[in-house]
Amino acid sequence: MLISDCLSCNDAGHLVISGCDTVDLARQYGTPLYVMSEDKIRETCRRYVSSFQTNYGGNGRPIYASKAFSCKEIYRIVLSEGLDVEVVSGGELYTALQAGVPASKIHFQGNNKSIGEIVYAVESGVGDIVVDHPSELMQIQRAAAENSTVASISFRIKPGIDAHTHDFIRTGQIDSKFGIDLISGEAMEAVRTALTMDHIVLKGLHCHIGSQILEKEPFVHAAEVMLDFYAQIRDELGVVFEHLNLGGGFGIKYRDEDLTIPYEEYMAAVSVAVHSKCKAKELPTPKIFIEPGRSIVGEAGITLYTVGSVKEIPGVRNYVTIDGGMFDNPRYALYQADYTCLIANKADQPADYIATIAGKCCESGDLIQEHTALQTPMEGDLLVVLSTGAYNYSMASNYNRNLKPACVMVSEGESRIVIKAETYEDLVRNDV
Ligand SMILES: *Cc1c(COP(=O)(O)O)cnc(C)c1O
Repeated sequence: MLISDCLSCNDAGHLVISGCDTVDLARQYGTPLYVMSEDKIRETCRRYVSSFQTNYGGNGRPIYASKAFSCKEIYRIVLSEGLDVEVVSGGELYTALQAGVPASKIHFQGNNKSIGEIVYAVESGVGDIVVDHPSELMQIQRAAAENSTVASISFRIKPGIDAHTHDFIRTGQIDSKFGIDLISGEAMEAVRTALTMDHIVLKGLHCHIGSQILEKEPFVHAAEVMLDFYAQIRDELGVVFEHLNLGGGFGIKYRDEDLTIPYEEYMAAVSVAVHSKCKAKELPTPKIFIEPGRSIVGEAGITLYTVGSVKEIPGVRNYVTIDGGMFDNPRYALYQADYTCLIANKADQPADYIATIAGKCCESGDLIQEHTALQTPMEGDLLVVLSTGAYNYSMASNYNRNLKPACVMVSEGESRIVIKAETYEDLVRNDV
């Protein structure tokens, strides 16, 4: 019912996150408010790290895909848990470096990095630039030559797997803006070219087959396809890579009925496939990386809002308006994302009121959820949306010149601000 084990209900009927009463948090920090459980984030990091111990004898690491939630404190937390960090823009790279992440532990992705971003990554000594397109190679080579350095890279490969169908429709994924195509031979050509470049060292290959995946098979299949390609590269070019990055995309719970798989089960299934494929192809087991984003932070986060008007339109629907909306969580407006909502100060009451949760932006599509069951709401109640830790703050905007809310981290009953709320002065800072 409450989705995540960092959530509970206290005797007052209030929702509690990692020992903090959400009603108290709202009173102390105001709403809207992002709240993240540090305890839950650390526990998830540890589960991934220990899976690498169990399945690969520690020969590999999870990498936090930080586009899910990027701020200085999250980089410090995942770094202290032994994870590497993945960034997809100069801005995320800057934030990670500011937070003290060593450049050697940063993996830089992106399907259209600017020249400026490439130069920034090379000058900073980023440990792994994941090349999305062969034309990026020349840009990296030039930047590395100008810095008298050698850039470590890997290639993002399109393995031809559609993660959201059972039969792995190949053409489905070839139609993607990300990566280099395996099946047409483009990937082999790119590997061949990279091996001739003196300011580039190709360390391995990468694939990422999708997001919010709730099945093991696509991950297993991707690992097998990639290792078949490793064997082909060894046979044709005589090269054996150091690492294999199998991407992220592990699904989380947004609603009670979402059937998630414990991360350990994905890890175990993929590890069996990796070991048996390496044995069959007589390949040494490469160092394995995975890149979870959503599953590290998603269920650890909630968003608190104050209920404004409740508009009951007989025979149509009940609009419950909140002091946030698509500017702090655009995911329903973008792709009808599922969420669980409840009234945090009535969490022990039955959820028998069917509501559409509407934001305060001047857009009819500014909704958080439609026809969802809630405790009966009243103006002034505290509405909470669960599983908002991933792709909420990181997708927030200033539409209608609304202010991005603060983010509070909670741990064992203590809370602290990790991102301050924006102010009106912040809004005009770059206006001339
Ligand atoms: C987005 C992304 C991830 C993380 O995906 P999640 O679904 O958040 O786990 C990992 N790798 C790459 C390359 C990505 O683009």
